[in-house]
Amino acid sequence: MSTVAFMTLGCKVNQFETETMEGLFKRAGYTIGKFDEPADAYVINTCSVTSLGDRKSRQIIRRAHRENPDAVIAVCGCYAQTAPEAIQSIEGVSVVLGTKERSRIVEYVEQAMREKTQVVNVTDVMQAKTFEDIPLYDMPERTRAFLKIEDGCENFCSYCIIPYARGPVKSRKPIHIREEAEKLVKAGFREIVLTGIHLGAYGRDLAPIALADGTMRKITLADACREVLAVGGLKRLRLGSLESLELSPELFELIRTDERFCAHLHLPLQAGSDQVLHDMNRHYDTAEFARLIENVEREVPGIAVSTDIIVGFPGETEELFADGLAFVERMNFSRMHVFPYSRRSGTPAAKRKDQIPEPVKKERVHRMQALADRKAREFHEQFLGRTMRVLFETTKDGITDGLTDNYIRVYTDSPVTSGELYEVHIEKLYKDGVWGQVV
Ligand code: SF4
Repeated sequence: MSTVAFMTLGCKVNQFETETMEGLFKRAGYTIGKFDEPADAYVINTCSVTSLGDRKSRQIIRRAHRENPDAVIAVCGCYAQTAPEAIQSIEGVSVVLGTKERSRIVEYVEQAMREKTQVVNVTDVMQAKTFEDIPLYDMPERTRAFLKIEDGCENFCSYCIIPYARGPVKSRKPIHIREEAEKLVKAGFREIVLTGIHLGAYGRDLAPIALADGTMRKITLADACREVLAVGGLKRLRLGSLESLELSPELFELIRTDERFCAHLHLPLQAGSDQVLHDMNRHYDTAEFARLIENVEREVPGIAVSTDIIVGFPGETEELFADGLAFVERMNFSRMHVFPYSRRSGTPAAKRKDQIPEPVKKERVHRMQALADRKAREFHEQFLGRTMRVLFETTKDGITDGLTDNYIRVYTDSPVTSGELYEVHIEKLYKDGVWGQVV
């Protein structure tokens, strides 16, 4: 029996796609091995969202080949899609696939094994019009299940390479979402996290449905959520990253009224200055964003709003950066991911002459991160002394951690079972979250 090992870089969509590929290999009779142990084939699912993602992808490919010179090395994902020639030229690479064609990965790996040749199949992702629907043949080894329901993005934010790596919006059919969610709940998952590259665009490419009165209605993310919520036994539904403007009243109503809907939204702000947002080709301003968050916080008390911020975007003066800091100070973000701007060749922002020097970016990341840490602490402090439901995940050195529905990481030394929900009394701040005891 052959062994295949996987390495995933990047986002939750990539993690999900790796899990589906693992299922395909298992169904074909392979054993899934560890990446740092000998295997017959290695699959590296790459990321290209920053230049660091590209570099890490190259390093991992080289390491896999150095340590296992006879193994087949298959490379797929966003970096392979946007720079196939660069991947092909790395010594030891046997298979190159982009962000499509993964449903045939077993076939390509076996062809490379048999013929001892390099197999390349990176097709024009801009022509892909339908969701590559690979059912889950194996259950992921985690406590929260990711379920990918959408691929592609047409927003073309001026800094982002992803629309070129993933192509246009492609949505999974509602019926298939229900089927996959049923499998996951049956396998014992308490929480499903819906993911996509541009999740809020879900349904845009699907045919509208005819209503009883003869009118037509578009399918939206709210429909996808209802499919999952219809599955008996599901305890929690969480949404992956969502553009703020796409939080529709219908979706918001579901969050407000269905207690299984996690009180957590990840809404990427990206910049806290209107000038920078405009230059990024984001289609909102800070006032709109703030109004939306205020409304969300008023209607769903205790909800967590987490966000992403890019600092050092071309043309970001010290004044514009200060605007960003001031805006973030006003907001009640529960968690922030702060990134330095990364120049992605082929994007409009990469062509700008007013790039910010690396040391300046680094210093701004540091200042924004310090603010993010304080904001997170302030958010966590609101919950000290309360009892919250926690889905526990991993145990290390006698301490288990898990998440509340509003995405606070809770640590405990109470005896708990991974994958189960417990009521926990929150006692104090601890690491990146809080410490509590099961009640
Ligand atoms: S919405 Fe913008 S940042 Fe997000 S994937 Fe699309 S282009 Fe990239």
